[in-house]
Amino acid sequence: MASTKYIFVTGGVSSSLGKGIIAASLAKLLQARGYRVTIQKLDPYINIDPGTLNPYEHGECYVTDDGAETDLDLGHYERFLNVATSQANNVTTGRIYQSVIDKERRGEFLGKTVQVIPHITNEIKERIQILGNSGDYDIVITEIGGTVGDIESLPYIESIRQLKWELGKQNSLVIHLTLVPYLAAAGELKTKPTQHSVKTLMESGIQADILVCRTEHELSYELRAKLARFCNVEQEAVIQSIDASTIYDVPNLMLEEGLDGITLSKLNLPNTSSPDLSQWNEFVSRHKNPKSEVTIGLIGKYVELQDSYKSILEAFIHAGAENEVKVNIESIHSEHITPDVIKNKIAKLDGVLVAPGFGERGIEGKIKAVQYAREHKIPFLGICLGMQMAVIEYSRNVCNLSKANSVEMEPNTPHPVINLMEEQKSVIDMGGTMRLGAWECKLEADSIVRDVYKNDLILERHRHRYEFNEAYREQLEEAGMLITGTNPDTGLVEIIELPDHPWFVGVQYHPEYKSTVSEPHPLFVAFVRAAVSYVQDRSNATMT
Ligand code: GLN
Repeated sequence: MASTKYIFVTGGVSSSLGKGIIAASLAKLLQARGYRVTIQKLDPYINIDPGTLNPYEHGECYVTDDGAETDLDLGHYERFLNVATSQANNVTTGRIYQSVIDKERRGEFLGKTVQVIPHITNEIKERIQILGNSGDYDIVITEIGGTVGDIESLPYIESIRQLKWELGKQNSLVIHLTLVPYLAAAGELKTKPTQHSVKTLMESGIQADILVCRTEHELSYELRAKLARFCNVEQEAVIQSIDASTIYDVPNLMLEEGLDGITLSKLNLPNTSSPDLSQWNEFVSRHKNPKSEVTIGLIGKYVELQDSYKSILEAFIHAGAENEVKVNIESIHSEHITPDVIKNKIAKLDGVLVAPGFGERGIEGKIKAVQYAREHKIPFLGICLGMQMAVIEYSRNVCNLSKANSVEMEPNTPHPVINLMEEQKSVIDMGGTMRLGAWECKLEADSIVRDVYKNDLILERHRHRYEFNEAYREQLEEAGMLITGTNPDTGLVEIIELPDHPWFVGVQYHPEYKSTVSEPHPLFVAFVRAAVSYVQDRSNATMT
């Protein structure tokens, strides 16, 4: 008998229903009952990973400790569970085929014809069970990207069908997430799309065990009964997922609907204790009852698509709750930083965050935003490219290196203050070749960051090819810039700060990936606190 239980989450009717949030919420409830849970995402696209995808295509690329470039849903998993994910938690069709083809080239299939069934499906099944076989988890939740009926999801659905059969009853179940649309003209919620989607799943040999129905309005008893009858599920297995004002309400909404209880009973696991959500609820209550507010500008070039900066936005929610303030985010497009935008928007901000990014588009705008924050003493946080822009701004406007730039933007700049890392110079392939994942950083005493982290050595996640150019270190330091964090082995500059400024920090790494509900990231917490002080100082100044 299998010791690990498997839950598969599929989606129907429409994409973007929030499978990731439902999976994370269920995992949270199970974790809060004492189970060891992890979540995995299977993405049916052919890219090996989302690392080479433009954020407009797929939102943010999330990076794990072990340096995997992954789907942004893994960010939700970590933020909800506070358990690190890894390469094994995100698998794409590209990776499955790459592995099967590599095995074929090594002759591992002993002369057989290599086919979708069984070779691709076997590879998928193996990838699903890697996490379960590690012995680290009681329950593995596997979310299948896309919608049932998509051509590209078929091998995944077939793999689940086989696995369900192999694992035996009570060791696995399928949760199908669908949409119950409201037709305003008819004044009615409609069940037909859900019926069709459950039927599509059945055509592939899978009977959904639990239905989670996204809806804008409450599902009546009659409507639930109808869904149960026509979709062949028990009535208590019809779970309503009504629109919530924040994703952090979803675990409690699922608890009210009994999603965790029905899951446990179908998996033949004890359903006696109730989940302990006290810490979670404390966070939700602080998030919903702020005592004041601050406005932070997010300066980036992908601001049209909120998902591009998902982890940053969530980190602000955690840090806001910790400080009991509402953090309003004003997204400002870095390509449109005109004098008017500076006067009417940036000047009114309580904090400026210059976002990560790649390529030349919008960088001059980012540099102007840094300059304004530096000169007007507005709290500033620069992340990755944002830190590099702060170095360029200081070089140009304080060190008089007016043509200073990053070689990413201008390969022949006379002052390459941001340079390609040595080990990147021979890199040809673009996928998975950046400096990725967790690296150590040693903090200097008497710095903002030492105070923030309360530690001399930190581990933070990275995703970059360019670095602070050591050749300019002396000149920048003489002009006042403080280097307050470096890699202990290579000396690579990880953190810069400025004196004569209340809170100006640039980091080469991505703190946003490590912020969770139970451990809000200290750097975001401190940045928001600095914004609160800035607001207070400003109002004191206007009163005197
Ligand atoms: N483009 C920059 C680099 O590769 C910054 C990357 C980032 O912001 N993630 O170094």
